[in-house]
Amino acid sequence: MPTDRLDPDNGCGQCADSPENLPSALWWGNGLRFSCIGCGRCCRGEPGAIFITPAEESAISCYLGISTEDFGKRFKTSRWKAPSLKEKKNGECIFYQAENARCSVYPVRPLQCRLFPFWPVLLSSEEEWEKAAEDCPGMNSGRLYSAPEIAELLAQCPFPSLL
Ligand code: SF4
Repeated sequence: MPTDRLDPDNGCGQCADSPENLPSALWWGNGLRFSCIGCGRCCRGEPGAIFITPAEESAISCYLGISTEDFGKRFKTSRWKAPSLKEKKNGECIFYQAENARCSVYPVRPLQCRLFPFWPVLLSSEEEWEKAAEDCPGMNSGRLYSAPEIAELLAQCPFPSLL
């Protein structure tokens, strides 16, 4: 899942979690490297939830030219803690195209996909990050994201209690 840089919400800069006030002791305080190579591994393999917001449901439905009701029947599941995308029987995301390892709704893919691997759970400890890096060849190489940039991406997480 190639990841674009997102427009950060910079906030007022006054609160304790603003990028300027990040504790220097954060394990990722010197930044982290990540550049997606588009291998598609994160879109297949073991089951996992890709949570979607109502706005994302509308955006994907619109992109596909179907109603949100139709989208719900065909592509949405509630088997996790919140609405998420279905998977195929082999564990691939319902929108993963195996023939070219691409996402069929890439321009409107959920924010959770766009933010990977800068998810709260993966940033919670170096161990979690390194465990995920074993399956993602894009982690720990390529572009260096600074701590403030990572904090901005973290702040965008639409499901901080789930990711
Ligand atoms: S596993 Fe990593 S490198 Fe491969 S598509 Fe996903 S984010 Fe990109």
